[in-house]
Amino acid sequence: MAGVIVITGSSRGIGAATALLAAQKGNAVCVNYLHNKKAAGRVVSEVVKLGQSAVAVAADVSRERDVKRLFDTVDRELGPLTALVNNAGILDVQTRVMNMGADRLNKIFATNITGCFLCAREAVKRMSTRSGGAGGAIVNVSSGASRLGAPGEYVDYAASKGAIDTFTIGLAKEVAEEGVRVNAVRPGFIYTEIHAAGGEPDRVDRVKERVPMRRGGRPEEVAQAIMWLLSDEASYTTGSFIDVTGGK
Ligand code: NAP
Repeated sequence: MAGVIVITGSSRGIGAATALLAAQKGNAVCVNYLHNKKAAGRVVSEVVKLGQSAVAVAADVSRERDVKRLFDTVDRELGPLTALVNNAGILDVQTRVMNMGADRLNKIFATNITGCFLCAREAVKRMSTRSGGAGGAIVNVSSGASRLGAPGEYVDYAASKGAIDTFTIGLAKEVAEEGVRVNAVRPGFIYTEIHAAGGEPDRVDRVKERVPMRRGGRPEEVAQAIMWLLSDEASYTTGSFIDVTGGK
């Protein structure tokens, strides 16, 4: 597979692991990030070491103007887009629904839902055969939380991922005839820095006994599922989900 892939939120965690695997498989990568320029720069250097082109682009996926600039930069610097990984996602400090205000909710939904819609829109514009593109693939990074609800921790985050599951099904059907496949992965408890934002950096170690496999997952294990869904090996797979949850 040799293509041009935008991976939102790929300065760290699952996105960064996906960027490296995408490069190993021969793809040019756009490393999008929000604030962490140094970390994004490190991922770009690793991709370049692997012999592939890469560009780091700071853009807030919840802001329409940023998203347009992100994809315009890719057109200019990397060439025709072949795939999007809608990976950027946030959560907030663990609490009950009764304590959640509109500011918190709007921020979570804007990044996790609106951001995915806007990036997918720009990707479909470029990849759909209906608009002159050569086809392509999108993977949305949902969460096992969309099935489990994350009670007492972040029901808002879980609900945003429920929206992503529905978005995946709807968009997949909408563009199926246009050469664009749309799928999702639902990671479980993965060792990344996202848990620190929830106020519990070591959350995975606390909850791992609830996982049938009795361990947390590594970002690289999620990246493998993402890259399979993007690959030609998944050519008849659309509107589907891979749970990367150790059986939970
Ligand atoms: P992470 O380590 O916290 O990394 C988040 C990434 O998203 C960073 O690159 C960050 O950029 C970027 N980002 C945040 N807000 C953004 C915005 N508005 N616009 C653009 N980029 C933004 O997260 P992760 O754990 O790898 O999670 C990646 C995805 O997997 C998320 O969608 C998450 O919901 C999902 N997921 C994670 C787990 C888990 O256990 N880790 C489980 C299920 C699902 P900066 O570095 O610049 O801040």
